[in-house]
Amino acid sequence: MFNKKTVRDIDVRGKRVLVRVDFNVPLKDGAVMDDTRIRAALPTLEYLLEQGAALILCSHLGRPKGKVVPELSLRPVAAYLGQVMGKPVAFADDCIGPAAESAARALKPGEVLLLENTRFHAGEKKNDPAMAKQLAALADLYVDDAFGSAHRAHASTEGVTKFLPAVAGFLMEKELRYLGGMIADPMQPFVAILGGAKISDKIGVITNLLTKSDAILIGGGMANTFFKAQGYPVGDSLVEDEVLDVARQLIQEAGSRLRLPFDVVIADRFDADADHKVMPMGPIPDGWRILDIGPETVRAYSKVIQGAKTVVWNGPMGVFEFPAFAKGTFGLAQAVAESDAVSIVGGGESVAAVKQSGLAESITHISTGGGASLEMLEGKTLPGVAALQDK
Ligand code: ADP
Ligand code: MG
Repeated sequence: MFNKKTVRDIDVRGKRVLVRVDFNVPLKDGAVMDDTRIRAALPTLEYLLEQGAALILCSHLGRPKGKVVPELSLRPVAAYLGQVMGKPVAFADDCIGPAAESAARALKPGEVLLLENTRFHAGEKKNDPAMAKQLAALADLYVDDAFGSAHRAHASTEGVTKFLPAVAGFLMEKELRYLGGMIADPMQPFVAILGGAKISDKIGVITNLLTKSDAILIGGGMANTFFKAQGYPVGDSLVEDEVLDVARQLIQEAGSRLRLPFDVVIADRFDADADHKVMPMGPIPDGWRILDIGPETVRAYSKVIQGAKTVVWNGPMGVFEFPAFAKGTFGLAQAVAESDAVSIVGGGESVAAVKQSGLAESITHISTGGGASLEMLEGKTLPGVAALQDK
């Protein structure tokens, strides 16, 4: 349940507000390649400005490992944000210390300042209290809208909340409402679609959803390990021998709620141009590998999705990066888009796949967090969320 204070619960007029945003966007030669995360922060930023706050924004970008890496500077993002917001966005060359302090001090209500990459300091990932304190000293209040970083207890996501009143932004609130509330207390029937490369990455997700869902539709590489656990030879398919026992146990616990593909697309190599064919699930011939779910499975899974009131999806059904093996993933995207269910998609590649399918508009909630959304699906409380003030 969502029981954290949000920007609506605080008075920001005339205050300096430190907003942790997730501006970890792909950059190429200083150009923003995908601005989803920047746009996702706008409702919170615009609301705070309307309420008369001065905004000091901070974020990490990439993995500079505690050192200044010029290619990972947020400076181009400040310029980009300025264009999107239609107003100047100032930039400070450091997120703490004299550069940040003087820029923050000069800021007036209605103005926006972006600080340099928090991960240029080793203290960020170490959650160093000294760094957190310096960040906090720049402002009167703290707002966390960086859902994508909330699974990390870092100086700018967790440490800083020890020194400033801390509340959630609108994006954080929305992510928690869907990935937390909706999944803890779903409208039934509740259907989970789980795929992706490996079971080992998703054991926590499967275990958590198993207790709550009416059906779990399995696809992707993880299906192979379930097949092998059932005793099928899987040819050259991606398989994780070290979790065969776990797979067997999950099959047993889930009973008929766990659905496995009954036809698959096999290929003679891992390649966009590989020879491929559909076969009913059975022993996979040597030299062949499963790269997608088959059309009958898409039809059957789509029917289950049609009857759902809540659908949560993590993990592509096949190697959707190759068009020949994207039909399973895009077929289910179609079913989810057409259903009346509340639909939630989380996970890096899953989100990319749904966007690529052109059906993103018809999904209720597409998460902006990769790792954070997975941890939510595991039923965990994220440290960056736990640290915010309760209502
Ligand atoms: P997410 O990022 O959404 O959590 P994962 O990282 O678990 O998803 O898995 C995504 C990857 O799984 C995709 O890049 C896709 O190519 C791969 N994948 C899906 N099905 C298979 C398969 N049958 N064999 C090998 N890889 C697969
Ligand atoms: Mg992934």
